[in-house]
Amino acid sequence: MPVVEKRYLFTPGPTPVPPPVLAAMAEPVVHHRTPEFRPVYERCLARLRQVCRTESDVLLFGSSGTGAFESAVVNLVSPGERHLVVSAGSFGERWVSMITKYGADVDNLRYAWGQTPEADDVRSRLAQHEAKAVWIVQSETSTGVVADVQAIAAAAREHGALVVVDAVSSLGAVPCETDAWGLDVVVSASQKALMTPPGLGLAAVSEAAFAARGALPAFYFDWEKTRAAQRKLDAPFTPAVSLVAGLDVALGLLLERGLDRAFERHVRLGRAARAGVKAMGLELFSPDEDRSAVVTAVRPPEGIEASVVISGVREHFGMTLAGGQGELKDRIFRIGHIGWFDIFDITTALAAIELVLAEHGADIERGVAATAAIEAYEHTSVA
Ligand code: PLP
Repeated sequence: MPVVEKRYLFTPGPTPVPPPVLAAMAEPVVHHRTPEFRPVYERCLARLRQVCRTESDVLLFGSSGTGAFESAVVNLVSPGERHLVVSAGSFGERWVSMITKYGADVDNLRYAWGQTPEADDVRSRLAQHEAKAVWIVQSETSTGVVADVQAIAAAAREHGALVVVDAVSSLGAVPCETDAWGLDVVVSASQKALMTPPGLGLAAVSEAAFAARGALPAFYFDWEKTRAAQRKLDAPFTPAVSLVAGLDVALGLLLERGLDRAFERHVRLGRAARAGVKAMGLELFSPDEDRSAVVTAVRPPEGIEASVVISGVREHFGMTLAGGQGELKDRIFRIGHIGWFDIFDITTALAAIELVLAEHGADIERGVAATAAIEAYEHTSVA
């Protein structure tokens, strides 16, 4: 195997972390109940509210995204209660299992992996069976589909249901208007578009969600404990101080340039990735639409397995791409483009994929992908 020194992370999480964020995390560890930490904590929590576009508290946990999601389940669900869970891929199905495991009566509006959930389906499902909450994944990272959460939330609210959104891979990449769209809970994590290493989970929780808490016991993930402590700039358990310091800097970078700029950049990166993939003659698995701005899922050419592409770019060029999950294992590979990503990350990934495919006999004209990607990126502006 060739000696590889430079590594590239092209997965939809974890994502590359900008140097100022790494530098903040390398500072000496401080105690969380001190004047050194409190201003950082306060600023980070305020920035989280800005990024989530909410006036409500954003609760921060030492956990991955799944932990923050579990906090929503243990705080909202009561055994036997009906909940509508929309699934169209691996993460939606994870939430079906989790909510079922906690004893809810789960109504699963299930789509095939790769399909896009529709607000009208949610509306008619709720007309048949009421539900306390609708649980929806905004960006189904396993397929590349980004759902229209605004429309789905409107349908849920017509039926008086709470709305819980998994925005783990979408927060900071595509619009997620917590208050304006009436989202009761928005869950995310540090390691995707928030440009911070894994380890922090977060949940923006509305007053309505607080008022609707269920009967399950909770301890570490008890929302009330965390909210009461955070309001005093304290934490019920030792917070991950270094990660909070990093997240604070990352959110500052995001907000300094503006969320709208970030959303526009993600749309253009998505366009570039899709243009490059199509120029190579490959078929997209994720939708060819602007909303699909988080991850591009690609079917390998006939006769070449996705795992060959993934191991090829890793071994030859030190690049990490993502494979398919569950039923899509070996049927697709995925190029992430969230967070600290630019057009040359896309062209680099595409050029490497092109070389590996050519090595395995695919008939691809060299350089077409990068050229098409740059053109799509350069010559488009987002309205
Ligand atoms: N939901 C989505 C849409 C994700 O992409 C992921 C992680 O990839 C998760 C949930 C789970 O998050 P974590 O791995 O941080 O627990």
